[in-house]
Amino acid sequence: MQTVTDYFVQAAAKGGFIRKMFEKGLELKAQYGEDAVCDFSLGNPDVPPPEAAREILHKIADDAIRPLGLGYCPNAGIPAVRESIAKYLSRQQEVELAAKDVVMTAGAASALVDFFRATVEPGDEIIVPSPYFVEYGNYCGHFGGVLKPVDTNEDFSLDLDAIKSAVTPKTRAILVNSPNNPTGAIYSKAELESLAALIDEVNAERENVPGARALFLLSDEPYRVFAYDGAEVPAVLPMTKYSIVLGSFSKTLSMAGERVGYLALNPKLSEEDGGTLMTTLILVNRTLGCVNAPVIGQRLAAAICNETVDLDIYARRRALMAKVLTDAGVEFTMPKGAFYFFPKAPGGDDAKFVDALLEEKILAVPGRGFGRAGYIRLSCSVDEKIIARSAEGFKRAVEACK
Ligand code: PLP
Repeated sequence: MQTVTDYFVQAAAKGGFIRKMFEKGLELKAQYGEDAVCDFSLGNPDVPPPEAAREILHKIADDAIRPLGLGYCPNAGIPAVRESIAKYLSRQQEVELAAKDVVMTAGAASALVDFFRATVEPGDEIIVPSPYFVEYGNYCGHFGGVLKPVDTNEDFSLDLDAIKSAVTPKTRAILVNSPNNPTGAIYSKAELESLAALIDEVNAERENVPGARALFLLSDEPYRVFAYDGAEVPAVLPMTKYSIVLGSFSKTLSMAGERVGYLALNPKLSEEDGGTLMTTLILVNRTLGCVNAPVIGQRLAAAICNETVDLDIYARRRALMAKVLTDAGVEFTMPKGAFYFFPKAPGGDDAKFVDALLEEKILAVPGRGFGRAGYIRLSCSVDEKIIARSAEGFKRAVEACK
C-alpha cells in the first residue's frame, strides 16, 4: 500500500537523475576507491572554513557550558547575531538595515521555505529564470505553489520580455539566484533594475484590485562572494521595496552542515505593512520545525561573516576546468560566478554524455535535472588534482558522443 503522499511519489520520480548520480558515485567509489572517481556531481563546499573559525569555536565552547548555553534562542535568531548580520547586509545591500529587518534561518533553504509558507496559497506561481536550482520546485511545492520556469537567453542572461509575459495575477514572486547555480551567471544591475521596475508596475496595478496580494523580487544569494574577473554582484534590496534578500554562510564560509542563513526585508515594506510579513516569517520559522537557527552556527557566522573561504582556490579550479573542457572540445559559457560549469553536451543528449562520462568514472548531473536538457552541470567543489585527472576522460567521453 502507498505510504506517502502523491506529491512525494511524483517528487521522487522527478529527482531521479541526481539520485542516480549519487548512488552511482557511491558504487564506483566502493568498487575502485575514492581517488579513482572524479566526482563533479555535488555542491558540498570542500575548501576549509577561514582559520579564524578555530579560535571562535573554542570561545563559543567555553561560553556554552553554562545553563542555557546551548538552549533555545528567540525564533528570529540571537539578538546580537541579528544585529551583526544586519550590519553585514547593510554594507552589502546599500540599505540601512536593523536587527528587526533580519531573520536567522537554517540556511538559505529554510529562508526560501519560510518565504513560501508565509506568502503562497495553493496554485500560486513562482517565476524562476531557467535553468535553476533543482530544489526550488519542492520548496514552494510543499505549500501548493507552482514553479514557473522561464528560459534564459543563450548566454544565461535574463529574458525580460519572457518573464514579463509569464506574470499572472497568481504570481507571488520572481525568484532570482545570482551568482547562479547551475550556470554561474551573474545578472547585471540593468537586468535586475528592469525586474524591479516590473515588480513595481505590477504591484501598482494590484493596489487597485480588492484582495490582490503583493509580487516580490526574491533574491537567493548564497554564492554572493563567488565572482571572478572583477565581476560585481549588484545589491537588489534598494531596487524596490518589494525586494527580499536571502542567503547563507554554507558556501562563503564552508559551513553548509551548520545550517545558518538569513532573510532580510526592505525596511520600507515593514513600515508599510506594520511588520506583518516579518512577524509571519518568524512565526513560520518557529512552526515549520526549524524553531531557531542553530545557536553555535549563528555565533560563528556573526563573528566571521566579513571573512570568506580562500576564493583564489575556486578561481584556480575555474581556470583549470575551463582548460579541461576547452581541450576536450566541450562548448561552454565561462561562469562569471559561483563554482559550477553548465556546458553543452556534445551531440546534444545530456543523459548520453553523462553516461559516457560515467564510463570514465567522471560524475556529472544532466542539465534536464535543472530544467534544461542538452547541458550538464559540473561542480568545482573538488581539488584541482581531480579536475586535472579528469582531462583524458572528458576527451574520450566527447569522442564517444560525437
Ligand atoms: N539556493 C541555491 C541556489 C543553492 O545552490 C543552495 C545549495 O546548494 C541553496 C539555496 C541552499 O543552501 P543552504 O540552505 O545550505 O544555504
